[in-house]
Amino acid sequence: MSAPTVVVVGTGPAGVRAAQALVEAGLRPILIDEGLRDGGQIYRRQPEGFKRDYAVLYGGEASKAHDLHQTFEALRQHVDYRSETLAWNITEGHLHTVQSSQAHSEEIAFDALIICSGATDRLMPVQGWNLAGCFSLGAAQIALKAQACSIGSRVVFLGSGPLLYLVASQYVKAGAKVVAVLDTAPLIPPLAALRGLLSRPLLLWRGLQMMVQLKLAGVALLKGVKPLRIEGLPDQGVSGIVVSDSAGRERQFSTDAVGMGWHLRAESQLADLAACEFSFEPMSRQWLPRIDPDGRSSQAGVYLAGDGARILGADGAEAAGRLAALAAMSDLQQSTGRAQYQLERDRLRQQLAQMDQFRRGLAQAFPWPYQHAEALPDEAVVCRCEAISAGELRRCVQELGSRELNHVKAFSRVGMGRCQGRYCGHAAAEVIAAVAHIPVETVGRLRGQAPVKPMLMNAREVSSGARS
Ligand SMILES: Cc1cc2nc3c(=O)[nH]c(=O)nc-3n(C[C@H](O)[C@H](O)[C@H](O)COP(=O)(O)OP(=O)(O)OC[C@H]3O[C@@H](n4cnc5c(N)ncnc54)[C@H](O)[C@@H]3O)c2cc1C
Repeated sequence: MSAPTVVVVGTGPAGVRAAQALVEAGLRPILIDEGLRDGGQIYRRQPEGFKRDYAVLYGGEASKAHDLHQTFEALRQHVDYRSETLAWNITEGHLHTVQSSQAHSEEIAFDALIICSGATDRLMPVQGWNLAGCFSLGAAQIALKAQACSIGSRVVFLGSGPLLYLVASQYVKAGAKVVAVLDTAPLIPPLAALRGLLSRPLLLWRGLQMMVQLKLAGVALLKGVKPLRIEGLPDQGVSGIVVSDSAGRERQFSTDAVGMGWHLRAESQLADLAACEFSFEPMSRQWLPRIDPDGRSSQAGVYLAGDGARILGADGAEAAGRLAALAAMSDLQQSTGRAQYQLERDRLRQQLAQMDQFRRGLAQAFPWPYQHAEALPDEAVVCRCEAISAGELRRCVQELGSRELNHVKAFSRVGMGRCQGRYCGHAAAEVIAAVAHIPVETVGRLRGQAPVKPMLMNAREVSSGARS
């Protein structure tokens, strides 16, 4: 019997550890990533020719970044690695990919598919966020990590969650001027959050240290803010931001760039195209693909690991990637993988459960500010790709009777643009739920559509990778 074809999408922490487990068991997986280099988000590699060392690029995570990169280098000759290759669709048992420099799409038949597609920023619109000079936190971080650039000369960060403080600290360390960090989370987190946060005391300690360092660097730190508007002119970009502080006073900060984000959203379109079932998680108010403790989705042969399934951070992604690969091999009756699965399963599950506890603590301490959707003025843009305003979404509910997100999409074009609703889908659902006075889960979620990201229209498809 020939070896099974196992395909891994993503070469971040989850994908690399999945590939490592597969190679250790004697398989030669196919690794697909749309990026130029491996590493994923947190351990993103700098472009060729840039020479910053690991400590500068990755700070306290330098040794983990180094270890993951070394692991990948050692794997290179044992895997079929396809960089700059987008996985754009999944049909029964087949992954469809396209290489950015070529005009043909490839159809790969797989026996097991491990999707490690990561996450993106989760964004809540603010009036004026469509002005030039507004970035997501992730984009602000990529500018710094990949290009050694700041997004502006006087930067304000707005949002909530650990990434808010982390990116602000990275900017300060790199010598950029950070004017303020404006956090929408309540001043005092609920007691229930503490239990979760204490499950990883070292991370909690690092977070607190970061806040102190920002204060010492002269950055204004405000918690409990409500964003009111980002100011500026269409031809000049951002000039300031106005929020209401925890005491209800209006505060204005002059700035030429705003980095914003509220935690992350799982990048789950591929899971959707694979027809995996999803369920609504009330705590984070997002739809997540259903998985068992080892990463098996509801579709046989499709496994999900890392941020694309549960946002557990980089360590969690590494553990989840390995566990999903071991589970896949066990299900494929691959004897070495199966033995290793029996050996490691319980330890990895336990590790993930602890990380999930921390995730829950974070979600409670830094909640998604869904209430802001109701307060958004009608003229505020929600979908930046298609310039769809909050008022237009409300009109679809009030005048056209729409109450479901895909229905509103058909009427308004919300989520129909280049980002395919990645950055506006969650907020649009909240705007609709608020105006229709219904729970957000009944509004549903934008259905994944192929291609998940833009590709050349003249791409022709060829087949490869016959199934055993
Ligand atoms: C913008 C951003 C910044 C972050 N910064 C930090 C940080 O500084 N510190 C920290 O501790 N955590 C950070 N995180 C969280 C951390 O990156 C993750 O927890 C961790 O990287 C998750 O690993 P992963 O392997 O699941 O996904 P990722 O590391 O995100 O890797 C996913 C990979 O999949 C590829 N991919 C996705 N979709 C496709 C597709 N359709 N076709 C082909 N390839 C695809 C991507 O190119 C990427 O390389 C950040 C997350 C984001 C989104």
